[in-house]
Amino acid sequence: MSKQKPSYDAGRIEPARQAAWIERGDFEAPRPAAGQARVYVKPSSPFTSGNLHMGHVRDYSIGDAYARFRRARGDAVLFGFGFDAFGLPAELAAIERQEPPADWVAQCGERMLDQMKRLGFSFDYDRVFYSSDEGQYRWSQWLFLALLDAGLIYLDDATVDWCDTCRTTLASIQVEDGRCWRCHNEVRLIRRPTWFLRITPYLEENDANTDELENWDDLALATQRYILGRSDGVELDLEGSGGPLTVFSPHGDAVGLAGFVLLSPRHPAVDAWVSDAEVGEQLEQMRSGGWDRSARDARSVPVLDTGGSVSAPDGTDLPVLISPIVDARFGPTAAFGIPAVDEADRDVAARFDRVASWREPEDGEDPVAPPVDGARPAKRYRANDFSISRQRSWGTPIPVIHCEDCGPVPVPEADLPVVLPRDIKPTGEGNPLAERPDFVDVACPKCGVPARRETDTLDCHFDALWLWVPAAVPPEAREKQMFDHPDLREWLPAERLVAGGDSGGFVFDQRIVTKALRDRGTFDFIENGEPFAGCLFHEMVIADGRKMSKHLGNVVNPDELVEQYGADTVRLAILYAAGPAKTLNWSAGALRFANRFLRNLWTYSQDRIAALEDARHDEAAAADTEHMRDRLGKWCDNGLERITADIEQLQMHKAIRNLTRLFERIQDFEKRVVKRRGQLDRADAEAQIAALVLLAQALAPFAPHAAEELLIASGRGDGPDLLGAWPEPAAIPVSAAGAASP
Ligand SMILES: [Zn+2]
Ligand SMILES: [Zn+2]
Repeated sequence: MSKQKPSYDAGRIEPARQAAWIERGDFEAPRPAAGQARVYVKPSSPFTSGNLHMGHVRDYSIGDAYARFRRARGDAVLFGFGFDAFGLPAELAAIERQEPPADWVAQCGERMLDQMKRLGFSFDYDRVFYSSDEGQYRWSQWLFLALLDAGLIYLDDATVDWCDTCRTTLASIQVEDGRCWRCHNEVRLIRRPTWFLRITPYLEENDANTDELENWDDLALATQRYILGRSDGVELDLEGSGGPLTVFSPHGDAVGLAGFVLLSPRHPAVDAWVSDAEVGEQLEQMRSGGWDRSARDARSVPVLDTGGSVSAPDGTDLPVLISPIVDARFGPTAAFGIPAVDEADRDVAARFDRVASWREPEDGEDPVAPPVDGARPAKRYRANDFSISRQRSWGTPIPVIHCEDCGPVPVPEADLPVVLPRDIKPTGEGNPLAERPDFVDVACPKCGVPARRETDTLDCHFDALWLWVPAAVPPEAREKQMFDHPDLREWLPAERLVAGGDSGGFVFDQRIVTKALRDRGTFDFIENGEPFAGCLFHEMVIADGRKMSKHLGNVVNPDELVEQYGADTVRLAILYAAGPAKTLNWSAGALRFANRFLRNLWTYSQDRIAALEDARHDEAAAADTEHMRDRLGKWCDNGLERITADIEQLQMHKAIRNLTRLFERIQDFEKRVVKRRGQLDRADAEAQIAALVLLAQALAPFAPHAAEELLIASGRGDGPDLLGAWPEPAAIPVSAAGAASP
């Protein structure tokens, strides 16, 4: 007699499974046992925007499947993350809602955690942190002091947008067509002291390591190479009116055709080339003209003639020009302008009579460059130091005190954290921090006279430099041992980072800071200074072939999908729809496919489990189908081998395709046996259920709720040891003697 079988009902299954996981503590990062592999899977750190979007769902579905897979294989897994909670988005939302950003961030974080739990993501939720928590940003301040001490942070002038009406500096996204987003008055550029992070000392090592990184996918490696912006070529030492100058060119065999030299406005020796007061003024204008954001187009980018020149090896004088186009191509250096071979140089040359000596050869043949003595191989990197301070109140306070006598003085470590007032309510006008005497007025730590606290805060990019660290430290130990807890040696470097393709900049700078922390001894156990042993970048999720936006009305809301289809369907669909390196154009088709697969598997498995009770065993019949069970066993072993390899490479779409194929084979097995014998022998039924159990185990990383419920229904018990284990090969009973008589 067949029992009443519950139909597939995600709304019933999923909350029950999620409650069981919490009850069992399945996702708590374990204390690794001896000999056990330690696997830290690092997902991206979301901004506290208030809502998960489909890109998050993609990111966490990949990471979660991998984390669950490694747990099932018996590894110690840490799957934890924290919120990137400081910064402009939260501040703007708080201005709009007229509430303190701290409150807004707390609400958003809670809502997003709720969404993640409903999607069944197996994070160690006890380890979740917010970069805006005092106990957290205390360590951002510690890192600032450590890097300052190592000479990797410095104060320099930088250009920022300023609104006279609102009395505040503006982020670039707050400036629209040169006007303030808030009051629509014209914005002007001002120079003001800004803190910079020096990354140049580690560019060479980042470059060399990039070739050695294993388990990094092509997309992730490509972003690292792009950000580094390495150019190979030659350099020459020349003499000129401004003194000695080393000049670079990527066109090693064409230097003899050089028509001029371009100098970066950030070149350390640039001032020596400016003898004329008028040229000096123009250089200053070029700098205050926001050259950081200058177009790379050589026809419109500012170029300045110094009037000076250098002597080329053949004795000709090469005019020296200054332009930020050098920075955009090769970093803050000097470069030959070779119009004969370089289109950008041709555009520059066309703008100056003094250098427009080059003409295109009339016969159209490539010009032949005369040989040049003294050229040696050289390289340049475009990546450069960047500013880390902002004139905003929702950020980590910079632990520096400005004293009239002593200059900028670091806050002593014992006085950390410099607390950000929690009740700060930014209005968009002024800098609320600078207007609070209780924050600003302080005694100089060095000489004791009245001094002023730095009122700039750290850009959230700085907080992100170490956002991969805290999850590895037990929450109760973070106050005292964030950077020297013994667990760090167990979990770091992270075995795998899973992040969006736009995270390349974060990752690049995290790699730099890890090297700096290694060199000061903090992370001496990370010898190559790489925070991530493996890295998978995935592309974004779009809809109707376009980026999702409220404006286009094509935003897909994960909550609605989960409500309608269940978390397992959504996870399976987003993983199946495209490989990680491809942009995922969301469609209901993938959703329907995933839902159909789960329903079919559910009904089919439940039917077979129920039918087992009535299955009879007959020695002769079982012997007659033994070769079919043998084949089923081979299908299972092959399928399992493929699925395992796919997951190891985080190619989840392939793994799911192989899962659906295996399901087809299991059904095929039954059809063949029925065709031959009319019905399944008990030995066949048991083999088939063993195959369905194997399938459910292999499905668990992707659709954990349904898979676990099926395993329970199959009589596997519901302890994590049975449910959680990755299947072994040769799990299918083939021999007829194995079948128990009813
Ligand atoms: Zn304004
Ligand atoms: Zn002082």
